Amino acid sequence: MFRMMKSLFLGAALVAPTFAMADVVKFDKVTDNVYAFIGEINDRTKENLGLNANIGLVVTSEGAVIIDSGAGPLSAAAIEKAAKKITDQKIVAVFNTGAQDHRWLGNDYFAKKGAQIYAMQTTVDTQIKMEASILNRIKSTDPIFHDQTPFHAPRPFQGTDAAVRIGGVTFEVKYFNDAHFPGDAVVWLPKQQVLFSGDHVYVDRLLGVHPHTHAVKWLDAYEQMIQLPAKYIVPGHGEVSDKAKVQRETGDYLKQVVEAVKETIDDMGALDDVSPSRDWSQFQHLRHFDGWHGRNISNTFQRLEMESM
Ligand SMILES: [Zn+2]
Repeated sequence: MFRMMKSLFLGAALVAPTFAMADVVKFDKVTDNVYAFIGEINDRTKENLGLNANIGLVVTSEGAVIIDSGAGPLSAAAIEKAAKKITDQKIVAVFNTGAQDHRWLGNDYFAKKGAQIYAMQTTVDTQIKMEASILNRIKSTDPIFHDQTPFHAPRPFQGTDAAVRIGGVTFEVKYFNDAHFPGDAVVWLPKQQVLFSGDHVYVDRLLGVHPHTHAVKWLDAYEQMIQLPAKYIVPGHGEVSDKAKVQRETGDYLKQVVEAVKETIDDMGALDDVSPSRDWSQFQHLRHFDGWHGRNISNTFQRLEMESM
């Protein structure tokens, strides 16, 4: 008897990693019928299935809706499994807020199960334009990410504003300007006052300005976005927050980076003059400050200096 139990136990231990991976995602309630999975604020790993970012779930009378589909079929399956713990409703729609891997590489998985995929044209344009580098980034993380079938919203929204009504819930999709990635958009639930900001907002960790990021445009997008009367902001990264925290950890930092870089360039200063020109102590508690702050300044500086020539 003991021996049998022992072998059963060993069997369970052998299959455990697969189950643990599928349980990476857990949705927590934001407000009635609105949920968020808050991903790790560290790098992509095999263990987090590339989900070092947040995902939204909205339950409507006609089905469940997912905001951002994860970094491929494995994360999509984990998202689907977590959604099933919240609702019996089938996933009928997926919105993409951006072009970064974890925002859309799960589209194919959900589309094959009958979900409608929605995104702005400008978001899809970036998904297509940057596809090679996006796929390369996620695939180089671990071989478990090699199985990828990029799938885009088949009828992207034109212009800068769109609205879809699903089961009595209005989903507004808005593009303000390029943000962390070109073509980043937000999903806004006006009645629930919930804003899925995508990568317009980072809290708890420092935001990242990449070479492809235009910090001035991002600040412009942010300043328009923050006018929405949001009660709950589900950021791209970090915990669900109110506007005050978002302003402190994304808005104020972005503004200070842009102002410090612009002023230095206007004064014919060098890259090394930018950071010492301001006090950054109110941002130093943010995760990854030491690794990212210098890069953010230099990427912004190079971009703006090039444009000023
Ligand atoms: Zn992101």
